[in-house]
Amino acid sequence: MTPDLLVRHLNLVLAHFYKVVHLMSEIRWNSMLGEWVIVTPDRASRPFQDEERKCPFCPDQEETEGEWKVLTLDNRFAALQPDSGLIYLDPPLVIGAPAHGYCKVIIESRNHDEQIEDMNANQLKNVYQEFLRNFVELDSKKGIEYVFQFENRGKAIGVSLDHPHAQVYAMPFVPPRIQREMVQFRKYKQENGECLVCETIENEFKSHARIIKESDNFVSIVPYGARLPYEVHVYPKKHVPSIVELEEDLEEFGIILSDVVKRYKKVFDEIAYTMVFHTRPSKLKDDLWHFHVEFYPPWRDRSRLKYLAGVESGTWTYTNDSSPEAKAKELREALSE
Ligand SMILES: [Zn+2]
Ligand SMILES: [Zn+2]
Ligand SMILES: [Zn+2]
Repeated sequence: MTPDLLVRHLNLVLAHFYKVVHLMSEIRWNSMLGEWVIVTPDRASRPFQDEERKCPFCPDQEETEGEWKVLTLDNRFAALQPDSGLIYLDPPLVIGAPAHGYCKVIIESRNHDEQIEDMNANQLKNVYQEFLRNFVELDSKKGIEYVFQFENRGKAIGVSLDHPHAQVYAMPFVPPRIQREMVQFRKYKQENGECLVCETIENEFKSHARIIKESDNFVSIVPYGARLPYEVHVYPKKHVPSIVELEEDLEEFGIILSDVVKRYKKVFDEIAYTMVFHTRPSKLKDDLWHFHVEFYPPWRDRSRLKYLAGVESGTWTYTNDSSPEAKAKELREALSE
């Protein structure tokens, strides 16, 4: 038996054993879609902040004592856990495993009300330095294939705590959206010899129709084929695969992200968005990936929600009932320079 086959067989035995014992969270293979689902029945009871409960992220609570400007904590209601045992996922042989990984919370300020758009340049730098530190720490962990950093904000998307915070999922697989982008990056490079995002930036500067804001090293745009009315992408102009290579530019990076949110505050009655960092997969060895940030607000105008209904859910085809150029103009003009 070759060593590779031996490992696969051992894996199978482990996977079989794991099925026998009861586990809280697991990863299951959805064979019709060819993707992993994290199944966490016990997380349904996680707390939502209400009037009577103290905010657990404010300073001098149980986990937030001491001096800090930005603080990373283990997520107490983690969907992925490091001590749940590592079984390599290998469908169709291994289609279920304990939900191995890490879930963290990054508390972005001591001040309960200091959101990204209220922060000065120095605090923005502190915040993204902590994102960088956290990324490096998790990216090198055994069994981790993807470190996903993101922020959910606003009641409209069901955020349970107002205190400015982000989340991190270090996953044992590369999620489908990232795989899809990888395929497109690779295809574009093979056909055109260039990076898809580098070329997109160059093309956007030809018309300026979808550009919202430009700084020395970054640009924010509404994508040509935006799925959502107010979708915004922030690209570093330099071809860098992760936040690590942006170490020198973190203050400017924070400023352009906060600029997007300031514009959202002007055009929506109520702030709500998801902001995601699309970084390279942990094991990607070549320079294919171009790091970027994507914002997905749930609004179709000031106060009406864009629901993901039949066509979006049933076919993954989006109908965007607004023009990306018009939305870019609205966001561009939302803040006077
Ligand atoms: Zn708080
Ligand atoms: Zn690039
Ligand atoms: Zn992306």
